[in-house]
Amino acid sequence: MSESEQSLSKRITAPFTVEQVYYLNKYQSLDSVHPFTCIRQVNYEVNAKDHDLDLGGRSKLVATVNGWICPYCDYTQNWAHEFMANPASVASLELLTNPDKLKELIDRINSDEITP
Ligand SMILES: [Zn+2]
Repeated sequence: MSESEQSLSKRITAPFTVEQVYYLNKYQSLDSVHPFTCIRQVNYEVNAKDHDLDLGGRSKLVATVNGWICPYCDYTQNWAHEFMANPASVASLELLTNPDKLKELIDRINSDEITP
């Protein structure tokens, strides 16, 4: 396994810090990634009746200090990938999904407002 693959597979476990909860939920809201979803919905015709089918029949998990919860059932999960709570990687992913913000940043760099 390469070094970058290792860091991709690194996990954090609950209890999460308040900062981690903030970034995990921010990660869940990005359009460019596949968020964590409730596993009860693998067979969703049977199991997802009470779930908000907002993601092709899946419901996004919500991060709390005590771990992930499903807003629609009692499913919980106690781990996340480390990069999902990393401020720098979440900020980069956010830029990728927001072309206007990215253009604004490039313009500011080009105008010497920001020195790389
Ligand atoms: Zn659920």
